Amino acid sequence: MKYSELASAYEGMEKTSKRLEKTFIISQFLKKTKEEDIDKVTLLLQGRLFPLWDETKIGVSDRLVIKAIAAATGTPADKVEQEWKKIGDLGLVAEKLVQKKTQATLFSRELTVEKVFTNLRKLPNLEGGGSVDQKVKMIAELLSSAKPLEARYVIRTVLEDLRVGVGSGSMRDAIVWAFFGDKAKINYNAEEKSITPDNREEYNRLSDAVQHAFDLKADFGEVAKLIMKKGEKAFGELVLEPGNPINVMLYPKAKGLAEAFEVVGKPAAFEYKYDGFRMQLHKKPSGAVHIFTRRLDEVTKQFPEVVEYTKELVKAKEFILDAEAVGYEPKSGKYLPFQAISQRIKRKYDIGKIAKDYPVEVNVFDIIQFEGKSMLATPFIERRKLIEKIISQHPKKLILAKQIVTDSLKEAEAFYKEALKVGEEGVMAKSLRGAYQPGRRVGFGVKVKPVMESLDLVIVGAEWGTGKRSGWLTSFVLACRKADKFLEIGKVGTGFKELEEEGVSFDELTKKLKPLIIAEQGKEVKLKPSIIIEINYEEIQKSPTYESGYALRFPRFIRLREDKGLSDVSDLNLVEDLFRAQFRHK
Ligand code: AMP
Repeated sequence: MKYSELASAYEGMEKTSKRLEKTFIISQFLKKTKEEDIDKVTLLLQGRLFPLWDETKIGVSDRLVIKAIAAATGTPADKVEQEWKKIGDLGLVAEKLVQKKTQATLFSRELTVEKVFTNLRKLPNLEGGGSVDQKVKMIAELLSSAKPLEARYVIRTVLEDLRVGVGSGSMRDAIVWAFFGDKAKINYNAEEKSITPDNREEYNRLSDAVQHAFDLKADFGEVAKLIMKKGEKAFGELVLEPGNPINVMLYPKAKGLAEAFEVVGKPAAFEYKYDGFRMQLHKKPSGAVHIFTRRLDEVTKQFPEVVEYTKELVKAKEFILDAEAVGYEPKSGKYLPFQAISQRIKRKYDIGKIAKDYPVEVNVFDIIQFEGKSMLATPFIERRKLIEKIISQHPKKLILAKQIVTDSLKEAEAFYKEALKVGEEGVMAKSLRGAYQPGRRVGFGVKVKPVMESLDLVIVGAEWGTGKRSGWLTSFVLACRKADKFLEIGKVGTGFKELEEEGVSFDELTKKLKPLIIAEQGKEVKLKPSIIIEINYEEIQKSPTYESGYALRFPRFIRLREDKGLSDVSDLNLVEDLFRAQFRHK
């Protein structure tokens, strides 16, 4: 298949902001793709070279891409860089410079999807001496055969920033439209680029089946290939295989315990909500153990002790367990908050030492596959019984999540208080009859935790955006107040809207902030404190990065507070109080 066809599909997707139209374009494209290309095309359409669960990163920097563009187009690197500063998107820079060059030479070989995919897939494997040059060569080779539009998307794919906005929902729908159009009696309207399924029920059933297949395989490429080969039969043959991570079940938030009961029914199971990180423990029939994070990255090498515990303490040949790993201080045994052990996840060297300094205790709370059989449809209470049976608990190594089953609000409250008192984040309430629903936030379980008070912070800096966001200020530096000074406490870039109609947009904020610019350096600007915004976050952390000494974890914009003045900006004392309140029970 020609890469130019894919490039025009990308362009079509990029031109529209309508989800339905994007989905339409993808589905049309999938329809005309041959079986041998379908897995590659599905990945590339999402701007990926590796499935979600594969931890391989392309790992190519902006600098390296600049060199490759320079080499392929005969443009000096500093000129490429200048263009980049102007345009803000190396994909568009490549397009422009390739355009110039092709006008001069007119010679180009046709790029295929296969060629682009294979060349780019080689990039992460190039390591050591001379690898930078090899990478430059590999990308430059593609660029020399690329037409301008192709160059745009080759470069964006390399940089893992496709900017055409395909979410997993669109991909799922596109697969249904492409392969089950007849069954769901789908009417394509090519002019309006939209669809309507006449058989809504059938459409929903198939859409659920495709979603479920994705939750199990975490790769639309594989799902599409299976469907192409076997049609609907593929769904019946999907097996949960240890070694292949799955999208774990997620839990929405309930406002309190009464609401939790409403969602999950009575009686319900309550468990401690541990403050660690999610781990899937897989054991293959061969005895090999694999560990994956919630984001499906493999971390087996980083946690050798967990591999040992799993082998030693779980009495079964084959399984997939769901668990939360919590760090503790080796000497005192005191549990540590997540951030203390987060460094272990990425660590590639001195693994033994860091494992000793920052050991983890694994709290198992669910089972997804057991001795080759899927446990997804088995009621939660049965799944719990099974893990109680097969796990020999060993404190500070591997244990079961602490649980009670009750229909009494009073008992649930006492358990919640106890959880907070021993320093846990809150509790999870789970339906006894609930299935294990990978990936989706449905009513089989909810979390209950104390809400952090929001903060009113003032914007004191920002960064000019690039690409689609160029011309706008994005990523805003926030500050709290100490007497009449403003001290930085973090940056926020989420919670704003791209478009005017939908709420507070980057454009609107940019207009408000532009007159307040005091200084500018590169992409960064300093702003006169004036605009106050309300911010939500998950946690306050100590941090040397910001002058306030604190940082916010997962800050999110809620609203503009034009009703507030500078003296209303949240005080550093409040931040300190809130920080301590997080640990009051520890
Ligand atoms: P949150 O990250 O706030 O959405 O809360 C959900 C997360 O809590 C899960 O993804 C798990 O990593 C973690 N967690 C801690 N304890 C439990 C438990 N007993 N059952 C399920 N998830 C838990």
